[in-house]
Amino acid sequence: MNKSDFCELLNAAGPSGYETNALSVWISMAGQFADECYIDEFGNGVAIIKAETPNLLSGDVINKHTVILDSHIDEIGLQVNHIDDEGIIHVGAIGSYDPAILVGQRVKIYSRKSDEFICYGVIGRLPTHLQSEDNEKTKIKIENIFIDIGSSTFDITSNLISIGDYVTIDREMEELSLFNIFTGKAIDNRAGCFAILETLERHAKLSNRKTTLIGIASVREETYSTSGARFYDSWKADDIITIDVTHASDQPNFEVNEQGERLMGSGPSIAVGSFLSKSLISELEYTAEHNNIDYTIEACPAGTGTNAEHTLLGNSNACRVGVISIPIKYMHTPVEMVNFDDIVNTAILLSKLYE
Ligand SMILES: [Zn+2]
Repeated sequence: MNKSDFCELLNAAGPSGYETNALSVWISMAGQFADECYIDEFGNGVAIIKAETPNLLSGDVINKHTVILDSHIDEIGLQVNHIDDEGIIHVGAIGSYDPAILVGQRVKIYSRKSDEFICYGVIGRLPTHLQSEDNEKTKIKIENIFIDIGSSTFDITSNLISIGDYVTIDREMEELSLFNIFTGKAIDNRAGCFAILETLERHAKLSNRKTTLIGIASVREETYSTSGARFYDSWKADDIITIDVTHASDQPNFEVNEQGERLMGSGPSIAVGSFLSKSLISELEYTAEHNNIDYTIEACPAGTGTNAEHTLLGNSNACRVGVISIPIKYMHTPVEMVNFDDIVNTAILLSKLYE
């Protein structure tokens, strides 16, 4: 896996519930090295690298461990609510947007039926010269956000766009002039999905693999967080690790006393606290230290706000649950920022743990 694979995965559209485009990129990349690769009945992408430790007497594979690595592939987005008489599109948010960052963006609109790109639009705003402070309609709130596709009638717009079509911000991934620092949309949480691909690829190259690794690109986390959890139970896994993103502390106005300190580039952040397995955390720390992998610890006294909570609730087997997070800046904006080394180091940590 390389940086251009990373950009391709992040540029694909995939708001919660409409992950088809992003999933097809993930599945085709995983298909290059996975033993099995498919989309399950809940819509999650699944890629499996099987253990291959033969029993010396029978020749059968002894499956010592089954481990699930889960990462949500969906991103936040918008959905078409209404087309007015002037051909303007009114939207609702899929997941949590700060409406202030939507103003002035160019967007891409996709068909909810075919998942094909339909057209570009812009999120406009009445010019500053014409705004008055007490005009409720120009306050930046999600209900005041509208998309203009350049049409001025209901008929022209509704000929192209249907209620329920979905929208992403038009933003391609870019590597900044500082080597390995990337910015774009959907780093939350394609960064985790890419880390899983990188882990699976490394695992596939091992001989005498003792662990079956199941990578999951799960859907609908930004809205409901449930599809992955329902799926996990049937695998009877020994460990389930959620790989998601967390807030890097080196962004302006960040409250380090409340959120803890972890810089972008400081490596994977291992969550501790609440329901997370102490023995799994110890093994992750040991593996990082013995392989010189930088990492930080993130205290999550009241939970992690990730799929891991749903893993626990949806799973009737005794299994160890963990969370590893990649530190990013400006989460839920089209200029999210990540250090590529943190993604690779997450994959190295996971592949060393289960080699
Ligand atoms: Zn998110």
